[in-house]
Amino acid sequence: MTAYPHLLSPITLGHLTLPNRVLMGSMHTNLEERGDWNRVAEFYGARARGGVGLIVTGGMAPNREGAIAPGAAGLFSAEDIANHRTVTDRVHDAGGRIAMQILHAGRYAYSPECVAPSSIKSPITPFAPRALDAAGIEKQIADIATAAARAREAGYDGVEVMGSEGYFLNQFLVAHTNRRDDDWGGSVENRMRLPVEVVRRVRATVGADFVIVYRISLLDLVPDGQSWDEVVRLARAIEAAGASVLNTGIGWHEARIPTIATSVPRGAFAWVTKKLMGKVSIPLITSNRINTPDVGEAVLAEGAADMISMARPFLADPDFVAKAAAGRADEIAPCIACNQACLDHIFEGKVASCLVNPRACHESDFAHRAAGRRKRVAVVGAGPAGLAAALRLDERGHEVVLFERADAVGGQLNLARRVPGKEEFDGLVAWFETMLAKSGVTLRLGEEARAGSLGGFDEIVVATGVQPRDPGIPTEPGARVLGYREVLAGAAVGETVVIVGAGGIGFDVAEFLTQTGTSATLRPADWRAEWGVADPEVRRGGLADPVPEPAARQVTLLQRKPEKPGRRLGKTTGWIHRAALQARGVTMTGGVNYERIEAGGIVVSTGPERAGPRLIAADTVVLCAGQVSERALADALASTGARVHVIGGADVAAELDAKRAIDQGMRLASTI
Ligand code: NAP
Ligand code: SF4
Repeated sequence: MTAYPHLLSPITLGHLTLPNRVLMGSMHTNLEERGDWNRVAEFYGARARGGVGLIVTGGMAPNREGAIAPGAAGLFSAEDIANHRTVTDRVHDAGGRIAMQILHAGRYAYSPECVAPSSIKSPITPFAPRALDAAGIEKQIADIATAAARAREAGYDGVEVMGSEGYFLNQFLVAHTNRRDDDWGGSVENRMRLPVEVVRRVRATVGADFVIVYRISLLDLVPDGQSWDEVVRLARAIEAAGASVLNTGIGWHEARIPTIATSVPRGAFAWVTKKLMGKVSIPLITSNRINTPDVGEAVLAEGAADMISMARPFLADPDFVAKAAAGRADEIAPCIACNQACLDHIFEGKVASCLVNPRACHESDFAHRAAGRRKRVAVVGAGPAGLAAALRLDERGHEVVLFERADAVGGQLNLARRVPGKEEFDGLVAWFETMLAKSGVTLRLGEEARAGSLGGFDEIVVATGVQPRDPGIPTEPGARVLGYREVLAGAAVGETVVIVGAGGIGFDVAEFLTQTGTSATLRPADWRAEWGVADPEVRRGGLADPVPEPAARQVTLLQRKPEKPGRRLGKTTGWIHRAALQARGVTMTGGVNYERIEAGGIVVSTGPERAGPRLIAADTVVLCAGQVSERALADALASTGARVHVIGGADVAAELDAKRAIDQGMRLASTI
């Protein structure tokens, strides 16, 4: 008897029966744009082998004007069709099923050619779109239907028509972006006309035996969004037009409410999909922050949806479904919803990957390869770099001993997990513990490895991490100064606090110090109130006035760089951290010099001339001024002639994060 009877039960979408109720949601990887279709096929093939019910590809443009950016992948030519055929063949050979997402970006297209219902620029792109005339709208419909026909020709099992997240079809639905007064704007019928007509024409083009997934926005989270009545009406019309299944979407990309970040409660929006259950007779798919089989099973068991969609969890672990089905759910590498290697990479123009699983989209770099000769390898330090290296070395057949001075594995991950909104790090540490326990690695906790005691090893991997940097600010007697490690470990902190250093850790410490009681991430109703998420039956678009929780103390965040603090945080998550701290009244100041710390606070000045020294009152000053490498062991080993490799923070401390540490650990271990 499986622990996941709902999740692992079959479901029929139109003509197609899936073996389970798990859909791999659409994700952009940037692989298609690089033209290496074998790599694209390998990426999806690995997920198909892992047992997912249905894969949906990243968004494919139906035409040039609808492309998310110039050069975005689509299905424009016979050559494109042949390339896509490589992917569908690989997925089908692995026993999987795959649908192609058709994404028309409308005004979200990063191009001066972009088109939309009305010429209203989006707040997240620099180009005002061209308002389409009636002939222009007809062309878009025809192009989308043609893309669906080509998808069928390329061997896909279906298409997903992207109608949510504020893209083209969604833009027609609401007055926020549609100010037309012709047949395509104004009344509800007119605003709905485009998505309904698109689905009708796609169905007419592809025939009955082809899945049409329609991605419908249930909660726009923008001003003048759809009312709930309009959503239900649209859902019914889309069903009547020929969709096989509705995949429910939450929030436009320009919404100022986080919908997928790690601080969003797990399964935070399943209640919205549940509201639509029973209103249509085709199946409903729910998504957003579902990252374990237990969460997925619970969502289905309570009748909130017929299927679940997960996207990023399939970057973290392609074998998610197979492991759940085999009773090995504890071995599923968890997506911690950090966005650091997936979405942030896309916004930086890089190929997507995963912090937890650097193999994602780089499958061939880590092709399973046994070591030529079994070696005895010491890994010193069980933070993310050391853990990743040790597990990969073991996987390749080496004899591995992992030394950790502390009494637990995890290193800096154990600090991150104490920050409100970063509870997912608990799962990551637990996964490392599980994988270590199931591996052949010998773990020596509470043991400090010294150069003299490592003589019997063929290779030594030094992953000793970092030490907090002492910024050397003159400090008067009586001042209370703490390091971030002491604060996160629970040291007593006063009512007014100044944080020195506004990097990732400064922001984390500010969140930690302003939080009262349990993290809002673990209290979904309070989280919704804090961010202003309402019942769409009560408020259009589900948008309410945010009600921030009072801060536990007054915090000031300082940095020397004369720029907006937090500017260098993650591209897709930095705004969330900044908004959360602003809501709690945290003062953020850049461009300061630190003169001295006194009992009553910190004295700062401005500019190279050190102008206007002033006291910022604080009963506690917390130092979050970055880190320096812990290299004592590496230096001591240098003179012994041992084969030594230094990785993670011990190698380079600057801007170290778990993504770089895990990637470096795994890549090194693949070469020994
Ligand atoms: P960091 O991001 O490099 O920030 C260090 C901070 O200390 C900066 O604000 C820097 O600003 C300041 N600083 C540096 N040298 C200083 C000095 N000598 N005196 C005074 N201030 C100094 O490092 P971190 O905050 O320790 O974070 C470490 C790593 O973990 C980073 O790579 C970070 O991205 C990662 N992390 C990420 C997240 C996340 O949310 N993604 C969260 C936590 C940590 P000024 O030089 O301008 O003063
Ligand atoms: Fe999930 Fe982070 Fe990996 Fe993206 S990088 S898939 S958010 S763990």
